[in-house]
Amino acid sequence: MIKGKIIIISGPSGSGKTTLYKKLLLSPRLKGKLVKTISVTTRPKRIGEKDGREYRFISKKMFSYKKKERHFLESQKVFDNYYGTPKKDVEDLFKAGKNILLCIDVKGARVVYRQYPSAIKIFIKAPSWESLKKRLEVRGSENQQVIKIRLRTARKELREAKRYDYVIVNDNLIESCKKLEEIVCSALGIE
Ligand code: ADP
Ligand code: 5GP
Repeated sequence: MIKGKIIIISGPSGSGKTTLYKKLLLSPRLKGKLVKTISVTTRPKRIGEKDGREYRFISKKMFSYKKKERHFLESQKVFDNYYGTPKKDVEDLFKAGKNILLCIDVKGARVVYRQYPSAIKIFIKAPSWESLKKRLEVRGSENQQVIKIRLRTARKELREAKRYDYVIVNDNLIESCKKLEEIVCSALGIE
């Protein structure tokens, strides 16, 4: 019997998902109650990222081996790299009675939702197309070519927002954090 819930966060690259979920996990109301799974990815590590914290960074060869070994609850090619949610991590967290946070793309979210229809889905948007572009440029983690690919994908991802339970327009960061915390706490029945 699964007691924990799954919270899924999706949204275009640069909309602020990582910034928001990192703040969410620091919320005293959620301490010890919500755990984010660490996805596996083949994309290069960014400056400031640490293996095992943001992601587990592995080679494409190793990813394809893990996929064959059915290591993933879901896995997708996003932009030009592969990302996957380790199945065992989700199972272990549920066994430990935790609620699980997944920050995954819209295709992965559909796969997880099919398996866990009680999952709560939250979509993060930037306030405008211009601000999304600017955020990707200011972050400076990808070159122009990769930013172009991410923006092209963003158009498709934005069409999926209507399938989500909640949409947060991440304009003012403090307000967006509060909204996200309210949504998650209320979904998990936390005062
Ligand atoms: P994502 O994880 O969705 O790709 P990030 O969290 O990395 O996005 O945010 C992209 C960039 O936008 C980062 O440089 C981040 O500091 C910045 N950012 C996030 N939220 C806001 C906000 N509300 N206002 C301005 N900049 C923001
Ligand atoms: P980034 O490279 O900017 O960290 O992430 C790119 C995209 O991949 C984002 O939409 C992010 O949510 C998604 N992503 C991260 N981990 C996973 C995962 O395990 N599965 C899927 N399907 N998408 C993921």
